[in-house]
Amino acid sequence: MSPHTCVHYNGTSQTKCEAGVCYRDVTAKPEEPGSAYRKPCILWGHSPNSKNRSPANEAYIKSQQELAPHCGKFRLPTALEIAADQAEASGHVERWKKLAPLIQAAKEEVKRLRAGDRNIQGKFQVIQCPVCSGSLTIRVAGHNLHSSGACEKGCFCWLE
Ligand SMILES: [Zn+2]
Repeated sequence: MSPHTCVHYNGTSQTKCEAGVCYRDVTAKPEEPGSAYRKPCILWGHSPNSKNRSPANEAYIKSQQELAPHCGKFRLPTALEIAADQAEASGHVERWKKLAPLIQAAKEEVKRLRAGDRNIQGKFQVIQCPVCSGSLTIRVAGHNLHSSGACEKGCFCWLE
């Protein structure tokens, strides 16, 4: 979540934002070069990357942004929303740091088993979730060592 991006913005690959506004309706001349900067959703010039842009580029972006139509649903996140988002993201990282060694161990075991018997299809195991102590399933495919799994209480759910 960026303090300079509308809370409803969900990426350029979508046709509508989370407030139901069609991006084409609020982007001036969407087919023309520079239209990415003509969305009202993002306030350009605040990201760390903008320091690396030349003054000419910055001036170009600013000129394009001034052409962006007004959007009635535009709303920047509040300081509280940004803090909550950051807390959730860091909690997510902490959870995954606990899971990663367990997945790695399961993969190492499948690798060992496959070294002794090429017909081993992989491994399915149920272990204790490192976050909630509930049941966590881990599957590792023998042919490519990709894993998937989930915690019964929702701490994790992944598929690679
Ligand atoms: Zn759990």
